[in-house]
This record gives sequence, structure tokens and C-alpha cells, in this order.
Amino acid sequence: MAATSDGARGGIDLGGTKIEALVVDAVNQVLGSARRPTPVEGGPEDVAAQLVEAITDACSSAGTEPAKLRGVGVGSPGAVNPETGIVSRAGNLPGWSGSFPLAERLADQLGTRVLIGNDVQVATEAEFHLGAGRPYQSVLGVFWGTGVGGGLILEGRPWLGRAGAGEIGHTVVKINGARCTCGRRGCLEAYAGRGAMELRARRRVAKGEHTSLFKLMEERGRSRLTSAIWAHALEHRDSMAIELIDRAVEALGAGIASAVNLLDIEAVIIGGGLGVRFGEPYVARIAEAMQPHLFHDERPPNVHVAGLGDLGGALGAALLASR
Ligand SMILES: [Zn+2]
Repeated sequence: MAATSDGARGGIDLGGTKIEALVVDAVNQVLGSARRPTPVEGGPEDVAAQLVEAITDACSSAGTEPAKLRGVGVGSPGAVNPETGIVSRAGNLPGWSGSFPLAERLADQLGTRVLIGNDVQVATEAEFHLGAGRPYQSVLGVFWGTGVGGGLILEGRPWLGRAGAGEIGHTVVKINGARCTCGRRGCLEAYAGRGAMELRARRRVAKGEHTSLFKLMEERGRSRLTSAIWAHALEHRDSMAIELIDRAVEALGAGIASAVNLLDIEAVIIGGGLGVRFGEPYVARIAEAMQPHLFHDERPPNVHVAGLGDLGGALGAALLASR
């Protein structure tokens, strides 16, 4: 039993493909962690059961148990009500088109209090308090993965708007442009989201074009083009992968620069599956792609790769439980 587990908190990042759970001490040092796949079938009850198992495993590796935690935070996709702990319309999770009292269900099973926040916002707050955002008072977090999410900190405080702020993925980078998963046209996500890029690659292959992307996918026994597969295809100089990623970088540059023109924030932090996997060289390319669109181009904001890597979401969730 670890003596340092006094005041320990749990954090869970509920992603579309995986659940990352960890236990941290009072100063946010990781005491234990666990990872599980997100269920692809069933409904909210099945997802909740998997969350319970993930945090229970993380507790075991930290030498404690859920009921002894000060609390557990969850970063969730969908529409999150932090007051009620109800999560609605989490489209990337199975059977979650309605509303589900996630905090209440987890609290019953874990025997401790449970707080829920928006996944992207908690990851941005983690970067602000513990990661690459520490030197700044105003930060835009951009999470480049299956979609493109955004989180904002202005004057040291999270900016949630009327609960819908941060949707940088749905800023328009091209009028009447590509169709987005949201049903609109020309969104940043329709060019830079991993999901949108995969759809485009599949369509081009169906038309007879060549790429190693899907061969790499099969070799790895995957059913989706993961960030690692994109990175691998770039290393192999796959021309379709290069073209699609170049286009994504251009779109990110335009979308992020527009946000900077409006808000004049001090720093942009690039995270998410692709952002973390591609790292510094691509963050530098995004900064370069922003440059022609910046109104105050003589003083661009600092652009950093997420300092907490893949763990930002779970660490940010654990911060929820420190309140
Ligand atoms: Zn959209």
C-alpha cells in the first residue's frame, strides 16, 4: 500500500477508441494507470462498466482502491453537463444518442464522488496547469485526431461560452468546401480530421488510385487508419498520405490563424493523436502555415506540441476531482 496515496484522485479519459485511466497524488504525480478499449457495441451501461474496470485497475497498480480516492474525474465526449453529470449525444460512443447519468452511475459503483467535464476542455486545462501552457495566461488547445477539437483559456480561466465554445474544427476554411461529418461544408475538420482523411483516401482508392495506407492497416490488424499508420505512410513517402497531410496542415494553419486574429492569445498548443504522434516538426509546419493568414504577422503566438502527450486528457480529468 503506497503511503503517498493519501488524497489521491482518479482521472479517466473516455475516448472513441480507448479509455485511459490513472491515479495521481496530491501534486499530480502518476501513481498508477490502466488502459482499456472503448466498447464498440452495446450502450452507455457497457461503457460505464468498462470505465469502472479501468479505474479499478489503475487503483490496483497504485496500491489503493476506488472508494479510497478523493474523487474521480472523467473527460467525456458529447454534450456534458458538469452540474448534473449527465452526458448526451456522444456520437462516437456506442448507443449513446440520448442522455445518460454517467456521474451518478459511476459514483454508485466506485463509492466516491465523480465529476465529468468535456474531454477537450479538460485536456486544455491540463496543458494550462501542468503542461506546455504553464507560462501563459491565454491559450488555445487544438486536438488534432479523429476530429479537430479546441479548448480555450482566456485570462487564466476556461472560456466555455454558452457551453459550446472551442469548436475550432468547425470553423470554415473554405466556402462551399468539403462536406464535414457535422453535415456542413468547408469545416477545418473536413480537411484535417483523421476520420475525414480516411474517407477521402478510401474514395480515391475506389477510383483506382494507389496508396500503402490500407496495406499498412491490414499488416497491423487494424480496421482504421490510426495516427501510427499515417506516420508510417509518411516515412515511406506514400504520395497520397503526403498530399492529404499537407492539405490538413494548410487547413489547420488557416483555421488556427483565424482564431488567433480574433482572440490574440499568447500560445497555441497542438495535441491529439496526430498532433502528439507527429510532434515538433509538424507543429513547426502548422506555425508556418498560419503565418500568411495572421493579421499581426510580425508577432505570431508561440505554438507548442502538447507537453503531456497522450496523458493530458486523463490528467485533466483528475484535476476536476481536486475542486
Ligand atoms: Zn463541421
